[in-house]
Amino acid sequence: MHHPASEAFDTQRRRTRRIGTCVVHALCDGAGTFFEPLSSAFPDAGATDLASAAALDPDAFLPDDRWRLHFHAFLIRPREGGAILIDAGIGPANAPAAAWAPTPGRMPENLTSWGVAPDDVDVVLLTHLHSDHVGWSVVEGRPYFPNARYVVPKADHDAVEKLNQRVREAILTPLAATGQLDLVEESVRLGPGVTTVPTPGHTPGHTSALLQSGNDAVLFSGDAVLNALQLVAPRVAYLFDDAPEAARAARLALLEQARLRGAWLATSHLTDPFVRV
Ligand SMILES: [Zn+2]
Ligand SMILES: [Zn+2]
Repeated sequence: MHHPASEAFDTQRRRTRRIGTCVVHALCDGAGTFFEPLSSAFPDAGATDLASAAALDPDAFLPDDRWRLHFHAFLIRPREGGAILIDAGIGPANAPAAAWAPTPGRMPENLTSWGVAPDDVDVVLLTHLHSDHVGWSVVEGRPYFPNARYVVPKADHDAVEKLNQRVREAILTPLAATGQLDLVEESVRLGPGVTTVPTPGHTPGHTSALLQSGNDAVLFSGDAVLNALQLVAPRVAYLFDDAPEAARAARLALLEQARLRGAWLATSHLTDPFVRV
């Protein structure tokens, strides 16, 4: 039997994982149809790959070769307190992603529903500087998370003009002005059991993250995995990868690490935020 209350409960449960002493919430900032047809977004995918991927994530495969994608950020809440945000969603109505993504996103309501205020967030990792991952970083020219250190891949910072014309002025300049911008190259610690995992290729500095607590782990893929196609056929490249060969190697290594650790994969754009690989 279907009724709204149980659906809401199921959705919340699907969006939360207890990982050792931490809790991880998926914050779905929005969902919409992508401007690029699936067959041109993933030109190497064969009919068998498409059928297997559609079986794994049916809601993502629409008629007429269209792709419905979600936009997830993730909130890690360690038992010790504080909060770590992985990615910052599509953002408010006037964010850089408004050109193509279904803004406004729902970050404020999502944080409130988990009892978290923007002040509570101590670290924000931007996996990369595409507009759909940075949207709530800065709102109306001010950092939305006033107490947070914003961890940003230096190679993306240095290539920002190529990634998005508006992100330097809208996001990076205000964060630099308040001293909140922390540019990183190697793996760094974000909090208890949380480290970054460099996965360059989708963008020059693309960076994933690992949470390991007790015997449980989550790998936050960012856009190293974009669609279920890249779970069933990890060699399939994405049209907008900056360096497809490097992206492919990073994806294969990330999926291998997830399997070895028995980790959840926390995905940016699949329908289910948490998947097993
Ligand atoms: Zn991206
Ligand atoms: Zn993305």
